[in-house]
Amino acid sequence: MKKTETRAEEARSICAGLTRDEKIRLCSGLDFWHLEAIEGADLPSVMLTDGPHGLRKQKTAGDHIGLGESVPATCFPTAATLACSWDRRLLEDVGEALGDECRAEKVSVLLGPGINIKRNPLCGRNFEYFSEDPLLSGELAAAFIRGVQSRGIGTSLKHFAVNNQEYYRLVTDARVDERTLRELYLTGFEIAVKKGRPWTVMCAYNRLNGEYCSDSRRLLTDILREEWGFDGLVMSDWGAVNDRVAGIHAGMDLEMPGSGGAFDGQLRDAVESGRLSASDLDRSAGRVVELMLRSRDTLRSIDGEEPPRLEEHHLLARRAAARSAVLLKNEDSLLPLSPDQKIAVLGEMAAVPRFQGNGSSLVNPAKVETAFDEMRRRIDESGAAGEVLFTRDPEEAPGLAGTCDAAVFFAGLPQEYESEGYDREHLRIPREQVELIRNIASVQKRLVVVLSNGAPVEMEWLDDASAVLELYLGGQAAGGAAADILFGTVNPSGKLAETFPRRLEDLRSSAWFPGSPSRVEYREGLDVGYRYYDRAGEAPLFPFGYGLSYTTFEYDDLQISASRADEAELSEWTGITASVRVRNTGDTAGSDIVQLYVHDVESGVRRPQQELKGFEKVYLEPGESRRVEFELGRRAFAFYHTATASWRIEDGDFEIRVGASSRDIRLKGTLSIASPFPSSPPGPSGEPDGAGAFEPEKESNRPFTLNSPLSDVRRTLPGWFLYRLVVRETARSFGSTSGRKDKASEEMLKKSVDQMPLRLIVLFGGGRFSFRRMNALIDILNGRILRGMFRLI
Ligand code: BGC
Repeated sequence: MKKTETRAEEARSICAGLTRDEKIRLCSGLDFWHLEAIEGADLPSVMLTDGPHGLRKQKTAGDHIGLGESVPATCFPTAATLACSWDRRLLEDVGEALGDECRAEKVSVLLGPGINIKRNPLCGRNFEYFSEDPLLSGELAAAFIRGVQSRGIGTSLKHFAVNNQEYYRLVTDARVDERTLRELYLTGFEIAVKKGRPWTVMCAYNRLNGEYCSDSRRLLTDILREEWGFDGLVMSDWGAVNDRVAGIHAGMDLEMPGSGGAFDGQLRDAVESGRLSASDLDRSAGRVVELMLRSRDTLRSIDGEEPPRLEEHHLLARRAAARSAVLLKNEDSLLPLSPDQKIAVLGEMAAVPRFQGNGSSLVNPAKVETAFDEMRRRIDESGAAGEVLFTRDPEEAPGLAGTCDAAVFFAGLPQEYESEGYDREHLRIPREQVELIRNIASVQKRLVVVLSNGAPVEMEWLDDASAVLELYLGGQAAGGAAADILFGTVNPSGKLAETFPRRLEDLRSSAWFPGSPSRVEYREGLDVGYRYYDRAGEAPLFPFGYGLSYTTFEYDDLQISASRADEAELSEWTGITASVRVRNTGDTAGSDIVQLYVHDVESGVRRPQQELKGFEKVYLEPGESRRVEFELGRRAFAFYHTATASWRIEDGDFEIRVGASSRDIRLKGTLSIASPFPSSPPGPSGEPDGAGAFEPEKESNRPFTLNSPLSDVRRTLPGWFLYRLVVRETARSFGSTSGRKDKASEEMLKKSVDQMPLRLIVLFGGGRFSFRRMNALIDILNGRILRGMFRLI
């Protein structure tokens, strides 16, 4: 018998020995980070911890926005950075290292990866997500999951689904048409579930087409389990539970964090009245027990194990950051710099690096390298004649730059510009930085700008820089990685996992992002990222898949295993092999990321011009050539046909395009697929995208409900008192010595309170506010004062 079957059976038999109330308790966490132990069954308490790019294990405090202290851990590059490596093996390596750090800290589940699609670069949390493309997101997430889980540690694939902004994330209703939902927003999750098999999935805060994700049986059972075969546990994002009874029925097994029994009474009543079947409760409790059994196996094997060597993890973090950095511009081959030169190193970020994002993923780094130190070390160690001279002072910077052979300015987004909890309002870097770039450029043409930012920025200053290196948020060793690339110890090989727009307004989604507090409409449909730019025929600042190297690569000899194929003979991900020969034509060893896009030549439905369907990273010595292979299955050619709720391939020709970026297609071939579905002109089955029914929103926010945010409620007098109370309580809990008080944290805290729905006050209130009291208060807010007072008594 397979281990999973025995585990499921064991879980069932443990559950059979539990009372109904015990099962109810199991379906909610013990506290902020733990599940309740089952003493009788010898199942110890299990700890879950953020993630994703490092451990945020809190020993004492408990908060979901990264304000309290956590144990030191390796801060690997964030997902936005790692994605630019396009390197599955690297993602697995990072996952394994994270798994080892979890083992050492006896953490059973790492809360990540996050793979929401980058619908718009303003989303404050994009640094935690991989890409604008679902295939790249899904493949990299699957690799990361395999890595972590190979160490016996679970992952939690998040935030399921359509959580593409921070603005009113706890209440907003993301309205997406079915085709866009399937093709863009769910496909990454599907790939990660099927190829990575995560132990758990975390459901998102928001609503999706009117229904809270945490209540959605369609999402959490019909699609996730029945269609995709997910066999693990679904937990809520922290405070995402809306209707607990509906949630259990939907397959939302575990409420996190524990709400001190806030829902226990409702669940008990629901089972007693038959509104919730006992078998639904058994099933969810069983899944919690299965997770505990899995965790117990690991916990038992840890004792006596050597802790991981953090120094080795640091080196891995450095390698990962270096392999992910993207060289965006390199005029006259300014880079790599020679250690024989006199180099001005400028900007605060050279000494105080920005290398991760704010919020629940914030890691307390075990060690931090700065670019300035590492550049100096590089010159010292090489014994070369050059030197690096550093100033952060903007007044002194141009003067110093003018006396040197080259200048490197470390710029980017200050921490408060992007964070979990709120979105950006524009794509600019601070004005002072732009001025400084101009001032430096006026005296030093050999100017390199090194960027640290979690998402694209506009570059009106691009002409002033001869070279631009994009580090994203590269983790604790980003400084070393920058030095490695600047001096050519590492040949850059990252490519953009998202489009860099020239201007925010150029993006289709900008018109509807982030919507109103209660609703965001995805009217752009599939027109996200390169899919939009390709269709519109416009040139972005830097296209999806773009990145330079210190060497050059040539592609030739595209071969496709068949020129005709029958749809019925293809399996989901395999069936056709395409391959191409890649040669390093320069004199430096390096890696290239070869990308395969599919274009439907004759399509009755409106489809993106081309979509990424394969990618491989290949390392080549100078002059070396290798054949790179891609596997294509049904899904590489199919679109989602809403009328039949299935993936369909239209009969006809498909172009296979192989390139170095989405805008640098080097080779093309054709494949004809025979399918029973003719390529018809757009009609009723024409599969519109972005054309979901967007009814007008209702004007008034009344009556108030448990889901009304404090920003609405505080417009009334009693609501204002409630708001002040929450502000005071929040300030008290984070005002302790451990609470971080920088600008980003303050802004995040303020937004979290403003956008907090009333139900969260109950769930996070540590038992001080019951649903009964909150409902009474809501009556009062709605002007039903007597009824409210009566319910309060
Ligand atoms: C975030 C999750 C995180 C959780 C626990 C939530 O606010 O959305 O990504 O895992 O908190 O910290």
